[in-house]
Amino acid sequence: MNDNLEKIMIDAIPDGMLLLDSRGTILRTNVALQNITGYQAHDLVGQNLDVLLPRRLHGKRPLLLARYLAAPAQRHMSRNRSRLLILDRNQAPIPIDVALNVCKLNDETCVIAFIRDLSHLKQLEKQVNYQATHDSLTGLVNRWQFIRLLNNALITPLSKQRALAVIMIDLDHFKSVNDNYGHSAGDKVLIQIANRLRAALRPNDILARLGGDEFMVLLTHLDSPTHASKITERLLGSLKAPFQYGAHELNVSASAGVSLAPHDTNDAESLMRFADISLHQAKTNGRKRRVFYSPEMSHDLHRRLRLQDRLTLALQSNTLQLHYQPQVDLATGAVVSVEALLRWTDAELGMVRPDEFIPLAESTGLIEPLGDWVLETACTQLAQWAAMGLTPRIAVNLTAHQFHHEHLVNRLNSLALRNRINPEQIELELTESSAMANPAKARDIMLRLAEHGFKLAIDDFGTGYSSLSYLQMLPIDRVKIDRSFIARLHHSEEDQNLVKGIISLIHSLRKEVVAEGIETVQQLQFLHQQGCNSYQGWYFAKALPAHDVSSLLQARTAHEIT
Ligand code: C2E
Ligand code: MG
Ligand code: MG
Repeated sequence: MNDNLEKIMIDAIPDGMLLLDSRGTILRTNVALQNITGYQAHDLVGQNLDVLLPRRLHGKRPLLLARYLAAPAQRHMSRNRSRLLILDRNQAPIPIDVALNVCKLNDETCVIAFIRDLSHLKQLEKQVNYQATHDSLTGLVNRWQFIRLLNNALITPLSKQRALAVIMIDLDHFKSVNDNYGHSAGDKVLIQIANRLRAALRPNDILARLGGDEFMVLLTHLDSPTHASKITERLLGSLKAPFQYGAHELNVSASAGVSLAPHDTNDAESLMRFADISLHQAKTNGRKRRVFYSPEMSHDLHRRLRLQDRLTLALQSNTLQLHYQPQVDLATGAVVSVEALLRWTDAELGMVRPDEFIPLAESTGLIEPLGDWVLETACTQLAQWAAMGLTPRIAVNLTAHQFHHEHLVNRLNSLALRNRINPEQIELELTESSAMANPAKARDIMLRLAEHGFKLAIDDFGTGYSSLSYLQMLPIDRVKIDRSFIARLHHSEEDQNLVKGIISLIHSLRKEVVAEGIETVQQLQFLHQQGCNSYQGWYFAKALPAHDVSSLLQARTAHEIT
């Protein structure tokens, strides 16, 4: 073959090529090898292979070569499991794969090595690994990597690293940032949050984003639980200053749940679950706080999950009941209205109080079907009473979620229409907190309800934050004084004066006053004297099944006729 053609062919080989004699002297290279290493052909030819090898291999090289030449065989690429490297002209290591073959040259056995540059592959591998272990938005490690790191940390003898803590952080109401400003705003704020959390940690602490607005932290080498507590406070504190999004300043708070090893458990999965349970507790306790795990929380959670399951079942199997507590007009003594109160006796759990299952339903979303069932049942009941010539008003309790539901007004209208009910027969009871959370929005909803003729009452008055000037602006018909004030009436004159004051104040706003929880004749007399408009309480009747209330309502009609 002519020399030129031979050179053209060798230089066309996509892999780097080295021809070596039995001592490892480089006899020939090609263009691809020169491209990989940055050397020119004349830099290499005549040199020993060692020029391309890391120093640690220089001693081993003659032996390896001799061993290969003693039993030469063709070796393909991808045979080597160990990481092979050569050094380029700048002594930088390059990951490579090698194929070997032998040939005879002037009676000497020579080695031909084909060398493939794996830098791109390694780079790609690095990228893939990075993606598999990191959150793309914030660059923090992801859940998978966090679990790996946590497991690693737990393998290290705990004596060496003293205590370890897992902190789960969830932003409070972060959804509203996305809803109000869009997802790109949400993303930008999340990046700022990640940066602030990172800055609040020690260099070796691990911060992960689990997705959405959830973060998880691993603290090692803690001196005591107090140490973990301090760092958690610092984390939550770092979010206090508002976040910048364009011209807007956004306020974000967070809740945290903390579990400790070895204090709570030594197992990664349990540590994460315990942190999650504690976080849930922090949210239930009012957010913006941190809660450390305690075993009772697991029991609470267990109960909650069971209640949730059983309540779903009760809804499906229609085993809930609606009872009605009469409200008595103090001027006439007649039962003018009733309050619908849910009753649930579960086959396995026994009687469950609304105070327990309503907040649960509210936080799990079950309140939607549950509240709807209550409205539907109450309206059907009104239709049945109407057929008996009875037209009481039914007061129905609404949670904040139900009150803010976009279809509330439509749903009520269609129920009233279908059951031929005058909307004035339906009174909706709201607590101060659901009315005050977003006053302007609450006022709009109330105005729409009032426009359609529905009645409105503020429930449990005096137990939450209330603004009286604001109360005046709302189209409220009645205000229900919470039963805790009534229960204290006999304690002191001061308590009596307080109730007196509340009643005259509500009257000055031209709203009616309903007293809740009347249990004694003394309480009744006092309220009567103060001009309270109506009352409900065990003194007159507890909440009763519909047919028991029918007779009380009929008595009312009888009373009115006579
Ligand atoms: P609430 O709306 O303030 O209802 C009055 C509560 O006081 C009822 O408790 C009632 O049984 C109780 N009560 C009435 N008279 C007396 C009395 O003389 N003495 C005492 N000690 N208590 C009296 P209940 O039925 O356990 O309901 C508790 C709360 O659960 C209700 O407070 C209401 O906020 C909520 N709830 C009940 N049913 C529903 C419902 O259908 N939907 C919604 N959203 N909430 C409901
Ligand atoms: Mg009520
Ligand atoms: Mg009440």
